[in-house]
Amino acid sequence: MCCNINNDLDKCYMERALELAEYAASLGEVPVGAVIVHKPTGNIIGEGWNKRESDKSPLAHAELMAIENASKKLGGWRIVDSEMYVTLEPCPMCAGAIIHSKLDRVIFGAYDKKSGSVCSVQKMFAFPYNHKPEVAGGVMEEQCSTLLKVFFKELRRKKKENGLHWDKSMSMAFKRASENGD
Ligand SMILES: [Zn+2]
Repeated sequence: MCCNINNDLDKCYMERALELAEYAASLGEVPVGAVIVHKPTGNIIGEGWNKRESDKSPLAHAELMAIENASKKLGGWRIVDSEMYVTLEPCPMCAGAIIHSKLDRVIFGAYDKKSGSVCSVQKMFAFPYNHKPEVAGGVMEEQCSTLLKVFFKELRRKKKENGLHWDKSMSMAFKRASENGD
């Protein structure tokens, strides 16, 4: 179920998700990006990036923002004939939202051993819910995980440099990085 796929089309959409993740990093957010693709047209109908610090909300994950955008674009809550590309394995909240939104498939980049809930910690799409999206992991894994590693490395460097004087959002992100063991 958690197979690696690496065709050109998948890479193309994952590259867009990576751009969104980089945008998140430029805002001081942990870099995660997501896009939703409408399969019949190949169009991107939803985009999102992690903005938990900006929104001051634990709900502000890239996947939920992309789902919100796509459902507005389609004019309904069912995001049918569509797939999500996301740079990091979805957490349990986002995996639940993906089931509810009826997406056909999720393609993710880096595995998340601490809270990834479609392959790593558990496999939510294998449970007997009324909708079971397909999943493929490890697409452009190297680029997706490098982006996260570089971000956390930079946070640690800033902390060392600035000691107690660095800003609060960085401090919170660093705390998370430490918790994640990065
Ligand atoms: Zn999530």
